[in-house]
Amino acid sequence: MKSIKSAIRLGHLAGIPLFLHWSFLLVPAYVLISGYLMGRPAFGVAADMTLVTVIFGCVVLHELGHALAARRYGIATRDIILMPIGGVARLERIPRKPAQELVVALAGPAVNLVIATALLAIAVPVIGMDGLWTPQSLTANLVGKTIAINVVMIVFNMLPAFPMDGGRVLRALLAMRLPYVRATRIAAVLGQMTALLIGVVGAVVFNNFMLMFIALFVWAGARQELAQVEMEASLQQLTVRDALITGFDAVPAQARVDWTLQFAMSANRTEIPVVNSGHFLGIARTEALATAIRNDFPEAPAGEFAEPAPVHLQLHEPLNNVVLAFQQTTFKMLPVVDDDGLLLGFVTLESILAAGQFRSLVRPASPVVVRQRPDELRDHLTRMQPG
Ligand SMILES: [Zn+2]
Repeated sequence: MKSIKSAIRLGHLAGIPLFLHWSFLLVPAYVLISGYLMGRPAFGVAADMTLVTVIFGCVVLHELGHALAARRYGIATRDIILMPIGGVARLERIPRKPAQELVVALAGPAVNLVIATALLAIAVPVIGMDGLWTPQSLTANLVGKTIAINVVMIVFNMLPAFPMDGGRVLRALLAMRLPYVRATRIAAVLGQMTALLIGVVGAVVFNNFMLMFIALFVWAGARQELAQVEMEASLQQLTVRDALITGFDAVPAQARVDWTLQFAMSANRTEIPVVNSGHFLGIARTEALATAIRNDFPEAPAGEFAEPAPVHLQLHEPLNNVVLAFQQTTFKMLPVVDDDGLLLGFVTLESILAAGQFRSLVRPASPVVVRQRPDELRDHLTRMQPG
């Protein structure tokens, strides 16, 4: 699983790790510094800090809504990250069934709707509608602003543009009638038109830098979603065999570390698969090999520095699953083995992309060639013995 270097771990919520992106700290810092510079009274600054905390809580609950809805369909959430422009619940995958995507996308704004409605139901009988908009107390002020913020969150998130929830709602509704890729294409174009509109209105009408920034963010989100779905569609019928890199270089476990590093450098690679009589053992990274040499172990066997791979792929595995596997590892290559654990080759994201683009133009490797691979591998390894 990829680690988040620029985030602070806050703990767990319903079993989901919660992170705060460091840039989120700019928000309370801004409130404190601007409050101080403008000479605001301490209680005013304290009220603003409370409001920031409340917004933060609403964003967390919104993301938790997505995560718990996804959980109902057996989709786990890797983590929830909070940033100044909003939160992200990083789902392990986007549900590809339109009805499920619809529920998961709506679950976030639904939480804001519940919060706003509940606060209205409690506050209006006590202080009346007017009391909320022309508040007489700090509490009424806070409640009024919390309701307003939740309404803004609903409106903003329901904009029909990726990566906002509204974009997903739109795609899901379209995908109930149309093929998935076509639905995504239409939703992406509408999203980019929305982005353009936000950008133009932000620049011309409001002269607002933040809106222009959001427009760029939305534009990029639409492109990314479309690219992702088109890649998935192009890989639909393909398996690991279609993306198999067979002209590969592996080193035997007993090969010296310094020799292995030299070999990795001459092959222009940062990761070298290590095998033990043809069986995949692990992947040695050049940094680990270099550290071993610096620590005076140039003659140590490379096998000692091979890290196990998170998955051993088989030829018949669908490529779309492999794309997901790459999202959860820092390795640039993943090994492909046969039933006996003999290394047949490996796949990289590049080889998967190439398969999606070109596989229809050339025939996939025939099973005969692949079955011969272990024998070729043995010859290959005997030729590569150091000495
Ligand atoms: Zn959302």
